[in-house]
Amino acid sequence: MSELLLADDERLLKRTVRDFADRELAPRAAGHDESGEYPWENLHGLAGLGLFGLTLDEKYGGSGGTTRQLAVAVEEIARGCAATSVAYIAHLSLCAQFIHAFGSEGQKQQFVPPLAKGQAIGAFALTEPGSGSDAGAMRTTAIKTDGHYVLNGTKTFITNAAEASTFIVMATRDRSLGTRGVEALVVEGGSAGLSIIPQHGKMGVRASSTAELVFQDCAVPEENRLGDEGSGFREAMEVLSSSRISIAAQCVGIAQAAYEAAVSYAKQREAFGQRIADFQAIQWMIVDMATSIDAARLLVMRAATLRDRGLPFVTEASMAKLFASRVAVESADKALQIHGGTGYFSPTPVERYYRDAKVTEIYEGSSEIQRLIIARNILQRDGM
Ligand SMILES: Cc1cc2nc3c(=O)[nH]c(=O)nc-3n(C[C@H](O)[C@H](O)[C@H](O)COP(=O)(O)OP(=O)(O)OC[C@H]3O[C@@H](n4cnc5c(N)ncnc54)[C@H](O)[C@@H]3O)c2cc1C
Repeated sequence: MSELLLADDERLLKRTVRDFADRELAPRAAGHDESGEYPWENLHGLAGLGLFGLTLDEKYGGSGGTTRQLAVAVEEIARGCAATSVAYIAHLSLCAQFIHAFGSEGQKQQFVPPLAKGQAIGAFALTEPGSGSDAGAMRTTAIKTDGHYVLNGTKTFITNAAEASTFIVMATRDRSLGTRGVEALVVEGGSAGLSIIPQHGKMGVRASSTAELVFQDCAVPEENRLGDEGSGFREAMEVLSSSRISIAAQCVGIAQAAYEAAVSYAKQREAFGQRIADFQAIQWMIVDMATSIDAARLLVMRAATLRDRGLPFVTEASMAKLFASRVAVESADKALQIHGGTGYFSPTPVERYYRDAKVTEIYEGSSEIQRLIIARNILQRDGM
């Protein structure tokens, strides 16, 4: 998609974040991938650019930006460092936006400004060892006693958990109520009864941190519940729908980075007395990458535009995530193929793109779950 289709503010934002990513994120990405160290300096840099509060109201320390602007920023961050973009999305799209959307005025005043300014890191905890795609089958309980919810249970694969001071945790008040028994609670880091157990050995996005949260009689004040009693599951699904636009933008960023590496390598590598870029087989891979990346970007911007206009966007967000995640995986695969044996080794970034891309087909709703959502919505819409 041509930059010409962006509004002036979006184009300026894109260039600002791209410059930062080229200067700061991309040069450090391989080191972070190797060490698995959390990219604090990258996140401080993003906070310094005002990106932590991009879509949050100015009243709470944000800059009141749009979903389209967030997509533009996320793509450029992911193009520089996919791991940093995961941490950023979990912080803003899943945690801060959750409180922003469903919190009371008091909750927003208390929790959003530190998240918007980068003084606190946010995390979102839905997945459990026994329930991922089937999130409604969660077992973590939140039993109401004396003005508190007492949490017991385990959440797994939680991004930013080891660094976060603000967690949105979904837990059930009463399993017999199904998803209508689920509460969304703000749990503060360091709460008594909350233990964080880091999970190591990720294939990609290695510098994003992932951990288990174990709750043992962890008391959370009742006033930390977001929204009405029993509305937590619906709220979580709404937040995930909008966050999928960010994940789809992340996919476009990873694919774009792989594509740029492939084009550059194809123009300088020679075989049989000519540049490999002169072979039609290589050209066709490059053409397929360029075309599918543009198509993915357009799907992302369509979903973002619909959301910004207050129109239904859930099906379109799932379509964007489903398509863009495949494009990320396939583009990284083609880029690696174009690099030949060199691409299989870590000094070239393409093997990292290949590893980073795969998770996008798994988290925030796997590709199978996106198809399920799209099918359900299409069939309902068309009255079938
Ligand atoms: C790096 C990373 C970071 C993450 N960060 C977070 C986070 O911050 N917060 C959070 O809450 N979670 C997080 N997750 C968890 C992630 O969202 C889940 O892994 C994902 O939802 C899939 O759940 P699962 O792993 O339990 O797989 P399962 O649900 O067990 O699925 C296994 C397979 O079965 C398929 N499947 C399941 N149900 C169906 C169906 N009805 N029809 C067809 N196929 C189906 C799935 O698509 C998948 O292929 C993270 C995961 C990873 C890997």
